[in-house]
Amino acid sequence: MIYLDNAATTKPFLHAIEKATQYCNRCYFNPSALYKGGLDVAKDIKITKEKILKCIGVSTDSFDVIFTSCGTESDNQAIFCTVKHGVFITDSGEHSAVYKSFLELKNRGEKVEFIPLNKDGSVNQNKLFEYVKNNKTDFVSIMHVNNETGAVNDVNFIAKTLKEINPKIIFHSDGVQAFGKIPFRLSKYIDLYSISAHKINALKGTGALIKRKNLNVKPFVIGGGQENGLRSGTENVFGIKVFEYALEEHYANLSSNYDKVSKIKQYVIDNLNKDLFTVLSKEDSSPYILTVAANGLRGEVVMHSLETESIIVGNGSACSSKNRFSRVIEACGYGFDVLDGVIRISFSAENTMEEAKRAVEIINEKILNLKRIMK
Ligand code: PLP
Repeated sequence: MIYLDNAATTKPFLHAIEKATQYCNRCYFNPSALYKGGLDVAKDIKITKEKILKCIGVSTDSFDVIFTSCGTESDNQAIFCTVKHGVFITDSGEHSAVYKSFLELKNRGEKVEFIPLNKDGSVNQNKLFEYVKNNKTDFVSIMHVNNETGAVNDVNFIAKTLKEINPKIIFHSDGVQAFGKIPFRLSKYIDLYSISAHKINALKGTGALIKRKNLNVKPFVIGGGQENGLRSGTENVFGIKVFEYALEEHYANLSSNYDKVSKIKQYVIDNLNKDLFTVLSKEDSSPYILTVAANGLRGEVVMHSLETESIIVGNGSACSSKNRFSRVIEACGYGFDVLDGVIRISFSAENTMEEAKRAVEIINEKILNLKRIMK
């Protein structure tokens, strides 16, 4: 099998699981317990948090980490638990974890604005800044890397500019497709940043919300008061440890992985038959995500047809794959001809150039055959 749906999820690192298994075999105590075993586990969770922050160039002096169950929960906590009432701004390209949370805010009577996208799926910065200049704004959420097109928003610049216009704005960014993949240092202008473990070869069921120190965030899950009262529920120590070991490996190899994946993506772009495909991802997009449209075919048909050859690709976001058209690609301004044929090819550093060559060969051949049959 050639797995090219790494933006949906990644294959967990076996050595990270083994290391975490060994850890939990020794240290299975409840981190809230007051005897030594529990205190040690609590200390180890703290160390994981320090490592997460170090990876994005900050320390526990300026930021905290709240462990959650996933990127979706992190996004929800940022959106529902920071500003109680007010004006909430996001863009039309957000993952449903953010987009639908904003629709929910609207249902609850809050003022919500969706800023339009550029053709590549990045937010239209001019429209965003203009809106904020002309309207009282309390909360802004702009994703770092778009999960459907790979477009990279310069969230440090966006946050800084927004705060120059209005220093009271709370700025959140969904960093789920960026963390562990894109070189990035979190700036002081970003108040909240969401990440998820299963996108970087750790396990589903672990996420984190990074928050600026002293920012007042309320809990989304209420109960025993774990995570300094900000996320109740006994900590998922195994998931947290796997996350730590996986992220250490990602950050030790961040730039070599970036270069490797960039070359693979470029090879695929250069060698896909341009009569059969329109490339939607732009040159400066994340090397980990390539979105194309199969001209005159349905993306879902293409996806299943490639599956019969053991090539696994996605059709848009895995979380909204049951909708025929991608809301995000539509918001980029594409018409029916493109929307119907969208497939997302997403890479990881475990992919090889040989896999890319084989995949491109099969993809071109399969699509040509499908087109012949459809005639
Ligand atoms: N945000 C983005 C940009 C994503 O790509 C995803 C997952 O696809 C999520 C949030 C949700 O993360 P999780 O699957 O951990 O809930």
